[in-house]
Amino acid sequence: MAGFQGVDQELKSTPSPQPSPINGRGSNREKQFINPAIIGGGYAGMAAAVALAERGIPVTVFESARQLGGRARGVLHNDTQLDNGQHLLLGCYRQTLHLIEQVGGNLEQDFLRLPLQLDLHGEFSLRAPRLPAPLHLLVALLNAQGISFGERIKAARFMLALRRANFHLTIDMTVAELLAKHGQDAELAQKLWEPLCIAALNTPIHKASAQVLLNVLRDALNRSRADSDMLLPRVDFTALFPQRAASYIEQRGGKVLTSCRVEAIVPRIGGIELASAEKTHTFSHVICAAPPVVAAKLLRPLAALENTVAQIDGLEHQPIYTVYLQYPAHVALPHPMLGLHRRFSQWLFDKGRIAGQHGLLAAVISAEGIHQELAQEQLAQKVVAELREEFGIAEPPHWFKVIAEKRATFCCAPNLQRPTQQTALPGLLLAGDYTAGDYPATLEGAVLSGLRCASLISA
Ligand SMILES: Cc1cc2nc3c(=O)[nH]c(=O)nc-3n(C[C@H](O)[C@H](O)[C@H](O)COP(=O)(O)OP(=O)(O)OC[C@H]3O[C@@H](n4cnc5c(N)ncnc54)[C@H](O)[C@@H]3O)c2cc1C
Repeated sequence: MAGFQGVDQELKSTPSPQPSPINGRGSNREKQFINPAIIGGGYAGMAAAVALAERGIPVTVFESARQLGGRARGVLHNDTQLDNGQHLLLGCYRQTLHLIEQVGGNLEQDFLRLPLQLDLHGEFSLRAPRLPAPLHLLVALLNAQGISFGERIKAARFMLALRRANFHLTIDMTVAELLAKHGQDAELAQKLWEPLCIAALNTPIHKASAQVLLNVLRDALNRSRADSDMLLPRVDFTALFPQRAASYIEQRGGKVLTSCRVEAIVPRIGGIELASAEKTHTFSHVICAAPPVVAAKLLRPLAALENTVAQIDGLEHQPIYTVYLQYPAHVALPHPMLGLHRRFSQWLFDKGRIAGQHGLLAAVISAEGIHQELAQEQLAQKVVAELREEFGIAEPPHWFKVIAEKRATFCCAPNLQRPTQQTALPGLLLAGDYTAGDYPATLEGAVLSGLRCASLISA
């Protein structure tokens, strides 16, 4: 990876990257010279870059930050490796997992893999037995603890109805409306569907798209049992994929430039110019894989993209707060991951059990809520009190760190018109978790959008 200083030197002698033919495709006349650039080294941008590099296309990635990963990046605090927020992957995130392996990752070593389980400490518990899908889920629902027998039957019937409908709704609606339509009463909604919806879509049930939730349930619960596994990373999110991806890209003739912000996108005859702090570079194609607010800013001057910009401007956002607490090394939770019912802390992660970081706990609070009204210190104290009351952890933490991502994801509302990867400007594509796709704002959604852009360029 090159920092901006290094790039500057390099580009002084090479005004713009040399176009390269696509390896071995078609006759000389048919061969197109392509030298794509990618704005943003998050999961979407790096997925696109790996897919292009794999096809022998040398790509240049511009990343404004000093490190890669974007919203899923490693963060060092008090000499402790954290992430920008505690993340988890599902077994059905097939493209993300495939890419991690492609760039040299080892899924066995990189993740703690847990079979599907939803545990709201002392209030609700659902665990999938080792049976084929979707039987594992039905048995899990019928044996769930913390809801009545009648509620368990209703939940199982609901899943069967969704399966019969191929997890497809003729008209999208909110998750709350879908639950009411299928007789999922308040207790069931609060203990099962609401935590699931918030974890998957980062959007409260009264605002969340039922169809997008069903897309996730379809892929996670309905195909193979491994698809519903929960994968908790043992390495930080920069190391997990983007850093390895950078080596993969560079070994194939590409460039990954960190601390290199793109300031403007200017269409020219025969290419697209990118302006960074001191230089301009011309490329055959540009994939804008910056987060939505930055993408809108970069695209706004381009008259042809007025509709795309309007779609991006129309997206609302939802926050995610992660409270990391470093306790003495002997402090541990009963499970690597568990939820709390009607508490500020929605999900707790024991980084000691997951990654050998003993005494390090993470509390995740997804989507909008009253926690946003608290100062960070107050929020951390609430979490400390909850850990004391629920698990008897009496000692105070050595330190805490609150990471508040106010625009963690877009608000995944029904019938949302998300911008497509292909834009009205030839050669300019859009990648990112907010672009059109089946998935909510997730790593897999981001990766899928990047792969689609790469396919559009190399097609
Ligand atoms: C706290 C938190 C928890 C989450 N938990 C989960 C989870 O458990 N599971 C899950 O699947 N998803 C989770 N997500 C969502 C997931 O992180 C995102 O969907 C995904 O990382 C988005 O990737 P992206 O590449 O689309 O965008 P980003 O990660 O935002 O990447 C965009 C990149 O562009 C760069 N950039 C910006 N401006 C410029 C510029 N002008 N020039 C060059 N580069 C620029 C940025 O620095 C960034 O690196 C979570 C998100 C957050 C914030």
